[in-house]
Amino acid sequence: MKAVFSLALDNHDLSRLRSCQGKLAGRWLEALPTSWMLALKPCDFRLAASLRLGDPLPFAAGVSTCECNANIDRRGYHLLTCKFGGGPVWAHNCVVSGWADCVGDAGLVCKVEPRYEYVNNDNRPDIVAFGSGTGECFDLDISLAHPWSSEASRRSAVEDGAAAFFREKISKYRTCQRSAGSTAKFIPIVAEHFGRWGQSALDFLQSLGRVVERAEGRAQKNIFLRYWRRRLSVLIQYCNSNVITHKLSRPCFGS
Ligand SMILES: [Zn+2]
Repeated sequence: MKAVFSLALDNHDLSRLRSCQGKLAGRWLEALPTSWMLALKPCDFRLAASLRLGDPLPFAAGVSTCECNANIDRRGYHLLTCKFGGGPVWAHNCVVSGWADCVGDAGLVCKVEPRYEYVNNDNRPDIVAFGSGTGECFDLDISLAHPWSSEASRRSAVEDGAAAFFREKISKYRTCQRSAGSTAKFIPIVAEHFGRWGQSALDFLQSLGRVVERAEGRAQKNIFLRYWRRRLSVLIQYCNSNVITHKLSRPCFGS
């Protein structure tokens, strides 16, 4: 990998490579499609592979303008991050749903976007989880970050996981104003679009593994972690490919 970084690559390629070498970023490539949660349709797989390799998107030829009137780059950055049409919100909700399943699978009680329990209802966590065995409560804030975004692009080229790290910091500053007396631990869960997870997400997944180990033993912990590392990795690629495909299928494209 060191030799690759010494090549004359532009900042986009450098940050893509740094993101792609992150933990779990490539687990979708080793997931056997034994259920729909671990499978990508062939067209989604091709798109995910193109994003990972930095190739021009296979469906983008002839398409130059987004419905928001911005120019579209052939490597998918605008299509993944443009808010017009709701793609990022849809992807966020998919990832929230995936993590809720994961937390529930570890035996924690969880609630997605709980209403009316916060002073500021618009600033509530995406998932509240409670471990009945330990009495611990977690507020999870889930987000996707692109290494090419203006806030992270410069650092992402020289620093592994910079986009996820930066988003984790922003997330921590958000105040989740629960009713008085909350002792919940705030966990920012961030995924970079190339598949890399932030350290906080990795640590939390590992802690869920320990919950499973305490309840069911080490063998089950290993099964749990292997499954969810792959499923969450597939999930990011599923979101990417569906956001892009949906954007490309809008009738106003092609102008
Ligand atoms: Zn757009």
